[in-house]
Amino acid sequence: MQKGHIGVTTENIFPIIKKYLYSDHEIFLRELVSNAVDASQKLRTLFSVGEFKGELGDLTVRVHLDEKAGTITISDRGIGMTADEIDKYINQLAFSGANDFLEKYKNDANAIIGHFGLGFYSSFMVSKKVEIHTLSFREGAKAVKWSCDGSPEFTLQETPKADRGTDIILHIDDENKQFLQKTEISRLLKKYCRFLPVEIAFGKKTEWKDGKSVETDQDDIVNETNPLWTRKPADLNDEDYTSFYSSLYPMSEDPLFNIHLNVDYPFNLTGVLYFPKIKNNIEVQKNKIQLYCNQVYVTDSVEGIVPEFLTLLHGVLDSPDIPLNVSRSYLQSDSNVKKISSHITKKVADRLEEIFKKDRKAYEEKWDNLRLFIQYGMLTDEKFAERAQKFALLKNIDGKYFTFEEYKELIKANQTDKDDTLVYLYANDQDQQHSFIEAATAKGYDVLVMDGQLDTHFINHLEQKFEKSRFTRVDSDIVEKLVPRESNHESKLSQAQREDMTAVFNAQLPKGGKTNFYVSFENVGAEAAPIIITQQEFMRRMKEMSAM
Ligand code: ADP
Ligand code: MG
Repeated sequence: MQKGHIGVTTENIFPIIKKYLYSDHEIFLRELVSNAVDASQKLRTLFSVGEFKGELGDLTVRVHLDEKAGTITISDRGIGMTADEIDKYINQLAFSGANDFLEKYKNDANAIIGHFGLGFYSSFMVSKKVEIHTLSFREGAKAVKWSCDGSPEFTLQETPKADRGTDIILHIDDENKQFLQKTEISRLLKKYCRFLPVEIAFGKKTEWKDGKSVETDQDDIVNETNPLWTRKPADLNDEDYTSFYSSLYPMSEDPLFNIHLNVDYPFNLTGVLYFPKIKNNIEVQKNKIQLYCNQVYVTDSVEGIVPEFLTLLHGVLDSPDIPLNVSRSYLQSDSNVKKISSHITKKVADRLEEIFKKDRKAYEEKWDNLRLFIQYGMLTDEKFAERAQKFALLKNIDGKYFTFEEYKELIKANQTDKDDTLVYLYANDQDQQHSFIEAATAKGYDVLVMDGQLDTHFINHLEQKFEKSRFTRVDSDIVEKLVPRESNHESKLSQAQREDMTAVFNAQLPKGGKTNFYVSFENVGAEAAPIIITQQEFMRRMKEMSAM
């Protein structure tokens, strides 16, 4: 038997680990299960390249809980470790990682372990003693047992173990007894290991028999090894995306649409993002995107990683290239993260534009739900705002949708100020402004509906972006001000012109008064707008004009 002192300069690292990482105790299970998965996948790779000539057999990773003994065991049939490898990867390497980690983040309580090879040692956050029983896949390897009670002393000795692979046995300490409950382990597996690429069994499946739940002899597999985002979009249909969505967010309404991300250069990123359906004025839940690192769950707090406005989206992002396990401030300054962020923005814009072009009707139907995201994006992200010019819509009170360009065309002839400023009229409360809206439309003006949560900000944004334009709320004042469009024209008539006009009208006067209705030209000039009036009214107007 070998005794030794683990390669660590800090006198006793464990109290420090426990203290700094207090809030994240539960990740120990993620770390150990993902190590087991790694070891299994490594063996699979060695097998496929012919370096391992034995039989792979069943590679299921097993989590076993023994409440009486107070232990949790994580077993795999992966590559295992020789005594030398334990020395290298557990005694030295892992601890040097721990040192780096503590050195770098001793003042940052938010830092999370894993990234610096602290993974395995997170087991000491919850254990008074940890054992490794392992047999390497290498020919002629001897099984070894490593044991450590949380001091820097360890023992390493040969042990009988027939099957290839590794068992990690955690002797849970008194302060962490909650992890000895089946429900708690289930919860952690569901949270962190749900999409790991190797099957993970925890206990046996149960079934209902004679009104009782009884155990079967079938493994209860807790994970889905090929989650949707790891598959090819060509192999997936709408229903696949929708059902994956509802598996992530049970009870929510179907999403509006999805964006399947798949990037391998200059960084690695896969995932599926969804635009959730939101009802008007109900706050969107932020931070529903789950972040994974090679299918290992890391966090659902993605601020600083995805662009601010996309934190409103739902879904999954998976990247081995995001330095996932370090602090937020570090993340935000990381150049890789910035690249990823702007790439996601681009992808989202591409997809929106594609849907808009392909099926405008469907896009318009979704607009009321969509507008919050797009407006928020345009308000907070310059690049996105540029792209969204093409597919952001304005809606008028008739329920018609226009792109910015189209709307400008629509009002350009009719809705300008004296100095050629385009006047965008809008209502933010259609009921309350009902009569003003009517008055404005009666005069041939178009009125937009701007009653969304962000519309006030959005209007400011548009006023800055659109050249020579002004947004004006329709109210009594405005409707009165709109009237001068006619009087403007009238006042432009000189006395001589008026006399000419009168002459024209006089010439048109019916003889004998047989005609009842007459056409009058209200607006003189290029925009002359004929209206029908009664003969009586016609006479009255003529008299009025002659009197002037
Ligand atoms: P990381 O997983 O980031 O390398 P860990 O501290 O989690 O860091 O693990 C340290 C090393 O210990 C691993 O890289 C691996 O070589 C070895 N190891 C841990 N668990 C296992 C296991 N179940 N089977 C084989 N090797 C393992
Ligand atoms: Mg690890």
